[in-house]
Amino acid sequence: MIQSVNSIPAFDIKQQYASIEAEVSAAVLEVLASGRYIGGPLVEGFEQQFAAYHQVTNCIACNSGTDALYLALRALEIGMGDEVITTPFTFVATAEVISAVGAKPIFVDIDTTTFNLDLQQIAAAITPQTKAIIPVHLFGQPVDMTALMAIAQSHNLAVIEDCAQSTGASWGGQKVGSIGHIGCFSFYPTKNLGGCGDGGAIITNDPELAVRLRVLKEHGQKNRYYYEEIGVNSRLDALQAAILQIKLRYLDTWNKQRQAIAAYYQQFLSRVSGIIAPQELAGGVGVWNQYTIRISSEGRNGTSATYRDSIRSQLQERGVSSMVYYPHPLHLQPVYQSLGYQPGQLPVAELACQEVLSLPMFPELTHEQQDQVIYTLDKVLSAEC
Ligand SMILES: *Cc1c(COP(=O)(O)O)cnc(C)c1O
Repeated sequence: MIQSVNSIPAFDIKQQYASIEAEVSAAVLEVLASGRYIGGPLVEGFEQQFAAYHQVTNCIACNSGTDALYLALRALEIGMGDEVITTPFTFVATAEVISAVGAKPIFVDIDTTTFNLDLQQIAAAITPQTKAIIPVHLFGQPVDMTALMAIAQSHNLAVIEDCAQSTGASWGGQKVGSIGHIGCFSFYPTKNLGGCGDGGAIITNDPELAVRLRVLKEHGQKNRYYYEEIGVNSRLDALQAAILQIKLRYLDTWNKQRQAIAAYYQQFLSRVSGIIAPQELAGGVGVWNQYTIRISSEGRNGTSATYRDSIRSQLQERGVSSMVYYPHPLHLQPVYQSLGYQPGQLPVAELACQEVLSLPMFPELTHEQQDQVIYTLDKVLSAEC
């Protein structure tokens, strides 16, 4: 029997910092000594590197993934009276920004195996008011962008990719974020490319959108101290840019480690009964920001969520942390009550919220730790049978 060793966290960003501490702390001290904290060559350098990584012509750094999405909608002049199609199974920011610009989020159900937008259901949700689609590459798994772009093009809709959880993922050999009209990224510390604070970026190949995005993120300033529209203040600071320049060089290595960890989980967990392991679409390369299984509750009394939550707490008691992303679908959140969605309307997303469990996933996770996760999960589930 495997002895309960140290408990295993769901993620561990301290360990990653330790692995690059010398480089990062030297860069941070250099920024501090430079007196150049806002803008400047480090931010511009990061923008160039991030654009080159994605093989796009423009990258605009900003304050967060949320701001990136907000600015994208503003740059596309989406606002009052417009509709934007997105998924109800995502972090709230994806839909929040649609509301923030005065437009209406239209939630379309997700696909059972990928947790991403069900592309078959998009066409039926399109109205004359629809202006854009925001696909989310959830948990690092790319959406089928070939099919999505075909739908968008045939209805003349803009596509804003929410790549907050998928930096480095690709579809058909192209990096996500570079396929739609605009790609939005978050550098929140637990994302695949995480800073030591907030940060975000927007990429696009459209030069006019790039100009508008820069104006909007700087208070709507067109020329110095001359304003034609209301903007925001959304900057990536030099400290974050210095750290992200270093971490970008490790991103592919870390993503490969995540892929190896996912493959190892997959090998064992696809045989454990009572759970459904995640599946990848052919054509995409995912980067596993999360490794999310379903705790199948078929044939049990009570709600699925109660059963999943009890599995989760039993894992926790045995030293295995896990997370629930996300416990509630956005269309049923109190904040969206006025949109009039009813329980049962988007059943796949609703069931996912009750069944999902994200297991420990971070590049430094060891085989031994994974063995402990798998063993413990198997033990807890068989005791429940
Ligand atoms: C993290 C996240 C965001 C928001 O990014 P922030 O940098 O935290 O503002 C948006 N969408 C998704 C899917 C996310 O996971």
